[in-house]
Amino acid sequence: MIKKKMLVLSSTLMVGIGSVLATSSVNAESINTLRNQQQNVQEQKSGVQSSIKETEAKIAELQEEQEKVDAEIKRIDFSIEETSAKIREKNTEIDTTNKEIEKLKKEIAALQERIEKRTEILKERAVAFQQSGGTVSYLEVLLGSTSFGDFISRVSAVSTIMEADETLVKQHEEDKAALESAQKEIEEKLADLEAMKAELETMKVQLDSQRNEKSQLMQQLEHEEEEAHSHVMALEEEKSILAAQEAAIAQAIAQEQKRIEEEAARKKAEEEALKNQSSGSSSVSNSTPAVSSGAFMRPAVGRVSSGFGGRWGSTHFGIDIANSADVPIVAAASGVVIKSYYSSSYGHAVFIAHSIGGQTWTTVYAHMETRHVSSGQTVSKGQQIGIMGNTGQSYGQHLHFELHKGSWNASKSNAVNPASYISF
Ligand SMILES: [Zn+2]
Repeated sequence: MIKKKMLVLSSTLMVGIGSVLATSSVNAESINTLRNQQQNVQEQKSGVQSSIKETEAKIAELQEEQEKVDAEIKRIDFSIEETSAKIREKNTEIDTTNKEIEKLKKEIAALQERIEKRTEILKERAVAFQQSGGTVSYLEVLLGSTSFGDFISRVSAVSTIMEADETLVKQHEEDKAALESAQKEIEEKLADLEAMKAELETMKVQLDSQRNEKSQLMQQLEHEEEEAHSHVMALEEEKSILAAQEAAIAQAIAQEQKRIEEEAARKKAEEEALKNQSSGSSSVSNSTPAVSSGAFMRPAVGRVSSGFGGRWGSTHFGIDIANSADVPIVAAASGVVIKSYYSSSYGHAVFIAHSIGGQTWTTVYAHMETRHVSSGQTVSKGQQIGIMGNTGQSYGQHLHFELHKGSWNASKSNAVNPASYISF
């Protein structure tokens, strides 16, 4: 998009320089115009230069931001690494704890079984006592003693059995309570571990999303920097084109100054020649016409055979100058030959563009025998451009001369009467 804009800009300026070079006015206005153009180009160039500086500052800013984001990413990566390690640690602890719980559950089950078996034994023993004497009790066992010695041994046996039973039951219950409390504890520990692991996992999700965000930001910053770099490149290109245009305008100014100086010197010489002619002989019938003062001079020596205006029911957009033998045709004013060609109607014809006091004029010289100039050539006032002839739609040797205030067009809407500007 920038490149397109630049091309339009450069071609516009080139056309500008070209048109100034093509004009051949004797005033310094052309130089002023060129200087204005030069100033415009310089202003544009400095504008481009400050855009380059601005963009380069932006690049530096973007790079600084990238460094910051890079450091952030490193920090997040480190945190992710740490968190992942912690999660792995917790997983190991959870595994170990689960194994412990399994082990405890088995121990509790085994103890439970033992307790059940003992209870069974105690029940059986109670049954045995009952079977041995109706409502059997330890007391009946004691009362059944046959002697004091027997009584003593029975008391001892009964109390031993009672104590043993009591101790056994108590022990079993204590063991079971201890195991159950151990299981409860370890299950709590497991719950804690699971909670910690869940927390760590949440943290890791957050870190991952932060990492994602930073990566995206980094990509965006890199993209912006890339764009800024190509923008600087386009600006540099624009700047170099502007510099080339500036140089071209400077050259045009130098050329124009030289041309104006030459023109002034030539004019002086012409004026001297005019003085000499007026003092000398007047027999110049078929020679080059004398350069007159004023914007335009007569383009050929001869008599006016047909004037400007209505003729045979149509309009004659020029003036005809007739003469015999080899009659030189000269440029009516300084300018640039815009066309030198043969046409079936105009015959050998030359078109010249002039810029006089900021006004563009066009002169046409038709029906010539031969042409001495070619398109794009600069001619000065009074310079020979051809020889009078009878080519094209012409009936008898004459010069058909047109003067247009502005550019020439097919409808000849800019044609003016040359007799209003030149005395024939
Ligand atoms: Zn004519």
